[in-house]
Amino acid sequence: MNAPAAPARDPLAPPLLDAQGRRMTYLRLSITDRCNFRCTYCSPASWGGKKDLLSAAEFERIVSVFASLGIQRVRLTGGEPLIRPDILEIAQRISAAPGVQRVAITTNASHLERLAVPLREAGVSQLNISLDTLSEETFRRISKQGDFAATLRGIDAAARAGYDSLKLNVVVMRGVNEHEAPALVRYAHERGITPRFIELMPFGQGTPVPTAELIAQLQAAGLPLAPEAAEDASSTSSGPARYWRSPGGRVGFISPLTQNFCGGCNRVRVASNGDLRSCLGGRAQAPLHQLIRGGASDVELALAIRRALGEKPDGHRFTEAGNASTLLPMMGIGG
Ligand code: SAM
Ligand code: SF4
Repeated sequence: MNAPAAPARDPLAPPLLDAQGRRMTYLRLSITDRCNFRCTYCSPASWGGKKDLLSAAEFERIVSVFASLGIQRVRLTGGEPLIRPDILEIAQRISAAPGVQRVAITTNASHLERLAVPLREAGVSQLNISLDTLSEETFRRISKQGDFAATLRGIDAAARAGYDSLKLNVVVMRGVNEHEAPALVRYAHERGITPRFIELMPFGQGTPVPTAELIAQLQAAGLPLAPEAAEDASSTSSGPARYWRSPGGRVGFISPLTQNFCGGCNRVRVASNGDLRSCLGGRAQAPLHQLIRGGASDVELALAIRRALGEKPDGHRFTEAGNASTLLPMMGIGG
């Protein structure tokens, strides 16, 4: 006698697994590929952006389908997400999507003086803020069109606005800002923010500083650092950062080059034009925008997402020769 056929799995129900069996619970949504800063390591001069951005309603639709598949956390990024005029509507719609438990934003802080409180009220509970230097001169070198004073005011506004979690992302570049690491740790801790140092990835200009070297530099500068116990780290960070303890608070390190974090990857990315990318270091795999505009049902979208995740590689290939030149700029994928 033949064994009874297994019941067909509902394509719109969790889990969302990738080709390696990793469960996807975190969606990074790039809501624009434009930016008011144009940092040297992120935004090549030739990058003009793609024209066709999704609307707030289209982002909501995509997030709803992902949430039904088991995505619980959504991060809005870019480009600079806060330059979208409809940012509050996007934040509200996504925060209200059934199944979404946490909405976070990564921002350069230049519009936070005005938006920190309204975004909190719209349901955003976590902010990652990018600041690489406390020197206006160095800031001008890195972020060609940025407004240093507005950035600092924005960070202070965020610190007062009652977010559950605030982090300061610092991309470390040899000979540019590595010597500022101790001062940036103090600056962040004084405001109740967790600093995180990121190894420069090969999307633009600059030379990376390996995390181990930076930790040694911080310790030599008089900052005691002890690695966090594994259970502390896992309870509070489901991302690629590894945390250390210092007297003033936690310090994070994100080390895509020297400590590959791909094994525990739980994230999927949608670019601002609606292209699903299963990996930061990979190519587009599903044109969700076209599917939506073509009238695709939720089940058809879910099947396209599952197919794309079925091709997710086991890890990025940043360190392999020749790969950097074939990647999209960071601005186009959303960090
Ligand atoms: N504009 C926002 C911001 O700057 O926070 C969000 C987008 S930005 C692409 C997201 C994060 O990627 C930022 O923390 C930025 O510092 C980081 N990033 C950009 N280019 C990078 C690179 N080449 N290597 C490492 N991190 C990078
Ligand atoms: Fe803009 Fe952020 Fe990239 Fe800087 S890191 S150019 S602020 S998107």
